[in-house]
This record gives sequence, structure tokens and C-alpha cells, in this order.
Amino acid sequence: MDFNEPKKLSILIVDDEKSNIDVLTHILKEKYKLYIAKNGESALKIARDNLPNLILLDVIMPDMDGFEVLAELKKSEHTNKIPVIFITGQDSKEAEINGLSKGAVDYITKPFNNMIVEARVNTHMKIVEQMRIIERMSIMDELTELPNRRYFNDQLAREWGRAIRETLSISLLIIDVDKFKTYNDTYGHPQGDKLLHAVACVFKESLKRPADFVARWGGEEFIMLLPGSDLEGALNVAERVRASVEATTIPCIDGASTSATVSIGVNSERPIIHLPAAGFVSRADKALYEAKESGRNRVCVYKEGM
Ligand code: GH3
Ligand code: MG
Ligand code: MG
Repeated sequence: MDFNEPKKLSILIVDDEKSNIDVLTHILKEKYKLYIAKNGESALKIARDNLPNLILLDVIMPDMDGFEVLAELKKSEHTNKIPVIFITGQDSKEAEINGLSKGAVDYITKPFNNMIVEARVNTHMKIVEQMRIIERMSIMDELTELPNRRYFNDQLAREWGRAIRETLSISLLIIDVDKFKTYNDTYGHPQGDKLLHAVACVFKESLKRPADFVARWGGEEFIMLLPGSDLEGALNVAERVRASVEATTIPCIDGASTSATVSIGVNSERPIIHLPAAGFVSRADKALYEAKESGRNRVCVYKEGM
């Protein structure tokens, strides 16, 4: 799942007959973003490129029929979870059983009633929406509204693999709030939570490139991945993050304000062999340890022998 999915749900309508497309468009265009395909091949291309939330699929079409399109969709891990509703003139029980057993979520026969189509589509879209909420909860940290460690690990594996394939630099920052236990003890746990939320906002604002992202690693530790950045770029980001946190004040309920600092471990590599990404992270962690040991509120870079 993409962490920044668009709000409006989308439907791909696949039918070789313009009149059917027109009717379905009329029924659904208010509520949903629509993609249209007039044959199986372009349906597959649109499905792959745009990952619609639902597909309305005609069965009888020239060249590739609806069953073949469904089979192709099921073959790819990108498209195999998109729910498919057959809308077809084949109204025999056998055809319906066949469609459902091949993995369609519903089967509507033509001529269809507009309100029934709309109601069934809405029902399936409700399920899609619920699934999106559950998936989002499974990858998001509620307190900071940042991606969580699970999501980070997925993205890291992907970007690490890409850096190896394309011989790119990749950089990582591990950021830890300094003396956070003392902060909690002094100002109370709720104020500590507010601080975590505030520094998470600072981290998000420090990201410049679309592929960069930050996640909550756990407790008061955060992790930032900068794919394609070399050490110089990563150090710039790290210093900017460190200075921004230091300059941020967090209001307290009694009208006073507090602030905190962070220590940052930086590791930048250009992976050329198939080593696991775990070592990449643990080397950044060693640099963080060094930043803590040498006084906190500073940025340290991993060096061999640390
Ligand atoms: P150091 O500078 O060495 O990092 O010291 P520290 O006090 O920040 O580190 P330590 O690991 O001793 O303490 C981390 C504290 O973070 C302890 C824990 O209660 C607190 N903490 C972890 N998660 C949360 C949270 O979600 N909210 C709040 N308020 N505190 C949290
Ligand atoms: Mg800490
Ligand atoms: Mg810590």
C-alpha cells in the first residue's frame, strides 16, 4: 500500500460497447474517478498503470475476453487484489458460477438496472474503503502520524534493492531525542507525546525529494531514508534537522514552553553486492551511539571500526 493514496476511489470500466460505457459512466461519475477501456489489452495496461480500486468487466469482447483479462489480473501481485465485477450479457447460471469461481467478487447480468449496479458498486467500494483503513492502520504510527517500522522496513528493502541494481548511493539517518526520559519526568508524559508529534512534523518538513521519507522507529527514535543521496547530501539534511529541532519550541499547558534536541547517526553507502539492509541500519545506529557519547545534539557519520 502507498502511504499517500488519493482520497477519491477509482473504477475501471471495461466494455467494447460505447452505449454500455456511457450508461455506467453516467451512473458512477459523480462519486468515483473513472478510467475507460474498450478492450482487454488496454484494460490491463490501465489497471497496471493506475491501480483502480474496482474493475467493472465485460465478458464478451473481441480478441481478449473478460475471463482472460481476469486471469491476467490475478497473475500479477500488483493487480491480483483489485476486486472485479463482471457485467455481462451471459446470463446462464453456469457462466455466473464460472465468473465467481475465477475470482470475480460479483456478477451482474445485462440488461442491468442502474440502481442495482450503483448499489452493488457502492457495497464493494465500502469494503475497499474498510480495507484501506485497516491497511493504513497497520503501517502508521498513531501518535506521530508517521509511517511505522513495518512500513519503513518494506520501503527500505525496496530502495536497498534498487540502490544495488542501479549502483546508487543511499543514506540513512537515525534520530534520537536527547534525554527524553528526563523530559518526560520533568514535564509529564502527555507533554512528551506532544514533543514527539512536534519533532515528527519537523522531520516531515525537512524532506525535500519525493523518494525521501521518515518513519517512527520506536519510542523516541526516528529513521529517515534518503534514496539516491550521497554523504554530503545526507549531512546537509541531518544538520538541517538537528538545527530545526533545536529551534522548535513546544507550548505547555501552563503557558510556558519547552524545547529539546536530537542526536543523529548518519550512514551513507553505495551497495554493490547483495548484502542485507540490516547492516546498513546497524551502522547508522553505531554512528548514533557515537553522537550520544560525544555530547548529544550533534550529527555523527559512521566510519569503519566504530
Ligand atoms: P538519550 O539522550 O541517551 O537518548 O536518553 P533518553 O532519556 O532519551 O533515552 P532513554 O532510552 O533512557 O529513554 C527514552 C524514553 O522515551 C523512555 C520512554 O518512557 C520514553 N518514551 C518512549 N515512547 C514514548 C512515547 O510514545 N511517549 C512518551 N511521552 N514517552 C515515550
Ligand atoms: Mg533518547
Ligand atoms: Mg532511545
